[in-house]
Amino acid sequence: MRSIAIFGATGSIGGSALDVIARHPDRFRVSVLSAHRNVEALAALCARHRPELAIVADPEREGALASALEEYDLPTRVASGPFALEQAASDATCDTVIAAIVGAAGLCSTLAAARAGKRLLLANKESAVMAGPLLRSALAEGNGELIPVDSEHNALFQCLPPRCNDVDARGEVRRLWLTASGGPFRGRTRGQLAGVTPEQACAHPKWRMGRKISVDSATLMNKGLEVIEAHVLFGVAEPAIEVVVHPQSTVHSLVEYVDGSFLAQLGQPDMRTALAHALAWPERIEAGVALLDPRTLSLQFEPPDAATFRCLALARQALRAGGDAPALLNAANEEAVAAFLEGRLPFLGIEQVIESALNELPPQPVVDVGSLVERDLTARRVAARIIRDIR
Ligand code: NDP
Ligand code: MG
Repeated sequence: MRSIAIFGATGSIGGSALDVIARHPDRFRVSVLSAHRNVEALAALCARHRPELAIVADPEREGALASALEEYDLPTRVASGPFALEQAASDATCDTVIAAIVGAAGLCSTLAAARAGKRLLLANKESAVMAGPLLRSALAEGNGELIPVDSEHNALFQCLPPRCNDVDARGEVRRLWLTASGGPFRGRTRGQLAGVTPEQACAHPKWRMGRKISVDSATLMNKGLEVIEAHVLFGVAEPAIEVVVHPQSTVHSLVEYVDGSFLAQLGQPDMRTALAHALAWPERIEAGVALLDPRTLSLQFEPPDAATFRCLALARQALRAGGDAPALLNAANEEAVAAFLEGRLPFLGIEQVIESALNELPPQPVVDVGSLVERDLTARRVAARIIRDIR
């Protein structure tokens, strides 16, 4: 019986994870659930899944969470603040952590789970992007296992040899191919992107996701973050990580071996497949996903439009620059996306903010979490100023 902590339980990934878990009460027990501020949704999830501990990241909401839980008459303990997440990621309350917080806010709990040797189901790609070297050393220190949940990386994990985080060193793989849906604006010109709204950007053709990652999909920054994530998780150099647009979102990624073989993982665009795989690995369990009939498939692949969607090239540039450049890129992107969602920045301003912030801040080596968080804050301040100037 696995005891599972879900950080970011009230989100899109959190909901999909709980759906899979609830199908297998003989295998999984929910031990910890967390949210940022949404205590009503968190309390409702606690009533349904009865965890030992509920955590609200915003300490000001702890009293509200306690009251909401009292209404359900639950024995669930309550905690708050970022340290409570790190504590729960490390202590004996759980053996498996689903890292499903969005953004840099997920970094410390992800690192804590890795250091504690938990099975880490990583959806929070931003932590891998920001802190690649720290995540890799935390995993080595904890001797646990990371199973990617991001659908492309979960597909690569399924197609690579077991426990393979040093792909280049083995010399068997020529390239990784990350598939991209192309997002809601595939085929548009820059002129047609100028006035797009947050609602249009969040209307993804294939996946239902949180608003931040939906905007990242629309700018192609999501694929840029995923190139960096693949480099960190699998030890592949940037030039050997290709991106290919595949609008059907059926092939979730491919591994090209040196003998000319390609291995791919196919499935519905439904995150429950990746979550079920990661939860049960190395076994397989029912995920509740709709059947896929290969006879109905017609698969299309095309190069990404890197001239129209410049975020992908910016992410590659940050990965090549090295040091903490990916963390600066991530911080500037988070600020720019938040500003776009709040109507303070046009869509094409997002790439402009990231590019200017990267030009202003030369990369420094990644030393420890403390200095990385400082640099994240610096990049956010610089990005906020650039956003004000653009307006
Ligand atoms: P959502 O926005 O749907 O959910 C985010 C979750 O994180 C919520 O539970 C939210 O709590 C919590 N949260 C937000 N901010 C903080 C904070 N500062 N501190 C603590 N908790 C916080 O996001 P998604 O589920 O879409 O995405 C989660 C992660 O998974 C992202 O990193 C994304 O890139 C990745 N991912 C998502 C996919 C998807 O299909 N959705 C696919 C692949 C990767 P509250 O409800 O209280 O705000
Ligand atoms: Mg993905």
